[in-house]
Amino acid sequence: MPELPEVETIVRDLRPHLRGRRLEAVLSLNPVVLRFPSADSFRAAAEGAVFGALTRRGKFIHAPLSSGDQLVVHLGMTGTLTLEEEAAPVRPHTHLRLRLDSGRELRYRDPRRFGRVLLGSARQLAKAGLLPPLGPDPLDRTFHAWPENGQVRRSRRVVKAVLLDQRALAGCGNIYADEALFLARLRPTRTAASLSASQWARLGAALTVVMREAIRRRGTSFSDYRDGFGARGEAYESLLVYGRAGLPCVRCGRTLVSRRTAGRATVYCRWCQR
Ligand SMILES: [Zn+2]
Repeated sequence: MPELPEVETIVRDLRPHLRGRRLEAVLSLNPVVLRFPSADSFRAAAEGAVFGALTRRGKFIHAPLSSGDQLVVHLGMTGTLTLEEEAAPVRPHTHLRLRLDSGRELRYRDPRRFGRVLLGSARQLAKAGLLPPLGPDPLDRTFHAWPENGQVRRSRRVVKAVLLDQRALAGCGNIYADEALFLARLRPTRTAASLSASQWARLGAALTVVMREAIRRRGTSFSDYRDGFGARGEAYESLLVYGRAGLPCVRCGRTLVSRRTAGRATVYCRWCQR
């Protein structure tokens, strides 16, 4: 599932190629991925609009349009958003094709269809309850103070669950939660309330480090994730714990274990993470 570094990589890839480009036609649109508005309204609102600079909020891609609307894409589990030549063959599970005045197409593909596409003004989307509230983002300048919210700090939930909660922390998923907890030397099953101020600070710093490092490597590809041009990311080779259950810990050499925590498979070192 694409997390912050994968979504950020796509946004950075696509931004210079979309900015100032006119959206000439909606060539195809599968209503199954369109959450808002109707397909007819989508076409009417999108065609002729010019793209502004793409941004990311948590795991959401926001593309402002000259009409004042925003095209919002969430990649779900298996979504990809790529820029392709018009003549490039259309792969199966492509649910949205937008033709640009540059002769290229922006294509949204999603085999499992857990992703979503929205179009509307910020007010419309908020009113429709389609953009969930998001917590602080590890790439924000002010993130060093995370979590400012006392409810998060005093929570009885396990810290892994807090990291996966988009209202407490934007953009994190299973991969980078495990990576950050390892780097911060914290057991994923600790309750949030048991962490000291310095442990929270360590965890916040670890989150920023793992996210930035993964962006530098253009994201983690297992099966589905691709960058804005359809290529794989390279962060997989640098992961310290995720996907390494049963292998030796890179720090102490003991075997990493996998336990179900916060509903997700969680890999950690029993020796290094207390
Ligand atoms: Zn270890």
